[in-house]
Amino acid sequence: MPATTAARLPLPVLRPGLDPRPGLSGVAPSAVTEWFAARGETAFRARQVADALWRGHATTAGDVRTLPAAVRADLDAAFRFDTLGKTDLQPSDDGLTEKALHRLSDGALVESVLMRYPARGARRERHTLCISSQAGCAVGCPFCATGELGFSRDLETAEIVDQVRHAARRLAPAGRHVTNVVFMGMGEPLLNLDRVLAAIEALNDADRFGLGARRITVSTSGVVPGIRRLTALGPQFTLAISIHAARDPLRDVLVPLNRRWPVGEVVAAARDHARATGRRVSYEVTMIAGVNDTDADADAIVALLRGDLAHVNLIPMNPVAHTPWQASPMPVIERFAARLRDAGVPTTIRRNRGQEIGAACGQLAAERAGEPPAPAVSRRRELIVRASAAALRGERSGEPVPAGVGE
Ligand code: SAH
Ligand code: SF4
Repeated sequence: MPATTAARLPLPVLRPGLDPRPGLSGVAPSAVTEWFAARGETAFRARQVADALWRGHATTAGDVRTLPAAVRADLDAAFRFDTLGKTDLQPSDDGLTEKALHRLSDGALVESVLMRYPARGARRERHTLCISSQAGCAVGCPFCATGELGFSRDLETAEIVDQVRHAARRLAPAGRHVTNVVFMGMGEPLLNLDRVLAAIEALNDADRFGLGARRITVSTSGVVPGIRRLTALGPQFTLAISIHAARDPLRDVLVPLNRRWPVGEVVAAARDHARATGRRVSYEVTMIAGVNDTDADADAIVALLRGDLAHVNLIPMNPVAHTPWQASPMPVIERFAARLRDAGVPTTIRRNRGQEIGAACGQLAAERAGEPPAPAVSRRRELIVRASAAALRGERSGEPVPAGVGE
């Protein structure tokens, strides 16, 4: 392979057992053209491959019937047309939600969730796919099932894009399409920054997946340099910030990354993104009873966001095994929403889809083999209760930034 092509191949994930062939959906089109050029083939061949991959839903080199058999064999030796192995599907919400559990080439498991929103009034039917960017997550938010797993590995660019292609393939026979993609599955997308940015470029590129930038939402727990690089890309990608609390002592506990990038810095970067793109930033608050749902918490969010191009989403917490916390009761959430709205901060309350199949936000924990042992759960519960009580008294946590995060 010529050096120039190698330089443009996607950043590999080094992990034993992982298929070393790059996934084609993560390879820049120019690198595919160069690969053909090195074999004395014209750019036309690269276009045939792109057509089969992005329009024809090809999953093997053998699906590219327009190519001679020898070229197909060479392609197969160099690239993977699909990086997802066996995938199990599980429907819920009367078929409106479908969880896909994907097995990757090294055995890692990740999940994506497809949600159908039927047409309403002038609004067309939407199919939103929630995708994963990492197996596990290093940030360790204590209310999140993925965080409890710890970090396993980054996903390759193609492993991210192929979750979207898989859903598109499932929808195609009915003439339907993936209309929106949200990075709200497993992992912190901006800690797998280069590959996630390459994936959103592939999804956005009119010659590849072709999804409008506004229909791609990156959700982050607050990786400030990552937010700034997303903004610098230029297109109007939508940014969602998992804020959960506007007071640093509490946010240090709920989102341990806050110890590295405090909430004020996160909001400043998000504000710059809104200014540069003209797009409203959405702020997510997982509502936890007695922890972050008080009037003081609402007022702190108002103080931080009033006047910004912003929108707040309140989401009742989904119960997860290892925490003692529960969702705030609906009247409390309504009161919190009213307080924000009265102060001029646009706010909505969102119900989570897919709860009964563990497909809701924060419930994606594919790799957990059974439930964690009871003593570990109770130890963890005690720690969380102690830390959140201290935070509510305004004491900042002395805990370090989680390992592998924010250096
Ligand atoms: N790591 C990124 C994206 C994945 S998490 C982030 O944190 O933004 C996607 C969303 O699910 C986040 O807003 C997260 O806070 C939320 N979430 C996690 N656990 C949850 C739970 N138990 N109940 C409700 N929402 C949860
Ligand atoms: Fe990671 Fe997001 Fe879960 Fe926090 S909420 S542990 S950042 S996946």
